[in-house]
Amino acid sequence: MSETLKIKDLHVSIEGKEILKGINLEVKQGEVHAIMGPNGSGKSTLAYSLAGHPHYEVTAGQARMGDVDLLALSPDQRARAGLFLAFQYPTAIPGVSMANFLRTALNAVKSDGNGAGIPITQFRKLVTEKMELLQMDISFARRYLNEGFSGGEKKRAEILQMAMLEPKFAIMDETDSGLDIDALRIVSEGVNTIKGPNMGVVVITHYNRILNYIKPDFVHILYLGRIIHSGGPELAEVLEAEGYDNIIKEYGPEAV
Ligand code: ADP
Ligand code: MG
Repeated sequence: MSETLKIKDLHVSIEGKEILKGINLEVKQGEVHAIMGPNGSGKSTLAYSLAGHPHYEVTAGQARMGDVDLLALSPDQRARAGLFLAFQYPTAIPGVSMANFLRTALNAVKSDGNGAGIPITQFRKLVTEKMELLQMDISFARRYLNEGFSGGEKKRAEILQMAMLEPKFAIMDETDSGLDIDALRIVSEGVNTIKGPNMGVVVITHYNRILNYIKPDFVHILYLGRIIHSGGPELAEVLEAEGYDNIIKEYGPEAV
C-alpha cells in the first residue's frame, strides 16, 4: 500500500531562533515534489529536521511517514523506517572506503535485527549494478568516502547510497549545486531510474535547472520558513523566467 509523508504545522528552531514557522506538506510514494526558495529560507533546515539532526529543535507540529511518527525516532530509526537524506555538503570519511560504507549502511538499514548481514557476493552484485546505472567507475568503490571527490563525484556517491538503500522517501538537498551539466544529467538520470511508484522524492533546489531533468509533480516555494505558494511544474518555469521577486511580492509576508 502506498504511504504518505505528512508534515503538519512543523516549527523548528536553531539555537532558540525559529527558522521554520509552520510547514505543511504531503508527499505520496511515487510523487516528486520540488521545494524551491531563496538562500536562507529554511530548505536545509526542513531536510535536516526530518532526518533528525540533533541541532534542529522541533518546537511544534508533526511529521509522519505512513503510521510512523518520525519525530519520535532517532536518525537511524528514521533511516530504517525508509527515509533518506542526500546532503547538500556530504562529509568526507577518510579511512572508510565507499564499499565498506555502503555495506555498513545497507546492513544497518536493511538488517532483520538478528545480525545477519547481506552476503558479500550479493552486495558486490548490487553495488556493481547500481554503479553502472550511475555511470560510476567500479574503482570508485575502493576510494575513501568523499575524500578528494569532486563536487559531482560527491553527489553521485549520495545518489549511489540512495540507489542501494531504496528508501520510501528521499529528500535531496541541493543535489544540483556544484554539478556541471553532464554530472547533473547523469545524477538526474540515476534518480529517474531509481524512483518509481515506491519512492516519494523531495527535490530541494534554488534553481530550476535540475527540474528540467527530474520532472516534479508539485512545486512549493519556501520563503522565511513558510511555504508561501504551491503549484505544478509550470511554477518552476515562472521562477526561471522571473526569479523569486515577483512570487514573493505576490504571496510573501509583505503581500499580506
Ligand atoms: P536554505 O537551505 O534555504 O538556504 P537554511 O535552512 O540553511 O536555508 O537556513 C535557514 C536560516 O537558518 C538562515 O537564516 C540561517 O542563517 C539559519 N541557520 C541555518 N543553520 C544554522 C545554524 N547551524 N546555526 C544558526 N543558524 C542557522
Ligand atoms: Mg540549504
